[in-house]
Formats: sequence, structure tokens, C-alpha cells
Amino acid sequence: MPLTHLECTRCGKRFAPGAILNLCDCGGPLFARYDLERAAKNMRPGHLALREPTLWRYDDVLPVGSSQAARARKEAGDGAAAAAGR
Ligand SMILES: [Zn+2]
Repeated sequence: MPLTHLECTRCGKRFAPGAILNLCDCGGPLFARYDLERAAKNMRPGHLALREPTLWRYDDVLPVGSSQAARARKEAGDGAAAAAGR
């Protein structure tokens, strides 16, 4: 997973990538930081075109862990099926 950590934009404090936080202890907003070299290996233009046409095609650079992404995909699929009356 290319998401490496969350980093405070005010003081630079780092947090684990799986933490559910909105702000740092100092009140600064957190930015998601990624291993972009690793993401670039998976996010080739040809590869992206083969992924499902949803937000999740970009999960290499979304600020969620792989287990969170899998759960969100399942919920989105279940919601679409429910909306379609399946
Ligand atoms: Zn801070």
C-alpha cells in the first residue's frame, strides 16, 4: 500500500496510516503521504483503464488502507445491488 503515514502540516508530527484522525494534537490538518514511486509502478495508464470505472481505480493514492478499501468496495457493491433491487 503506497500510503505511508499521515503528517501534520503545522508541526510535522507523523501518525500511523490506519489512524482515523482529522487534526493533529496541535490543531494542524493532516496530509496523507504516499510512496509515490511504488504507486507509479501500479498506476500505469494501461493498467488504470482495465480497472473498474469507479473511484477505487485510484486506491493506490487514496488515504485509506487496503482493508478499509476492500470494505468500502464491498459496501458500495452491496449498496448498488440494493438500489437495483437485487
Ligand atoms: Zn501538529
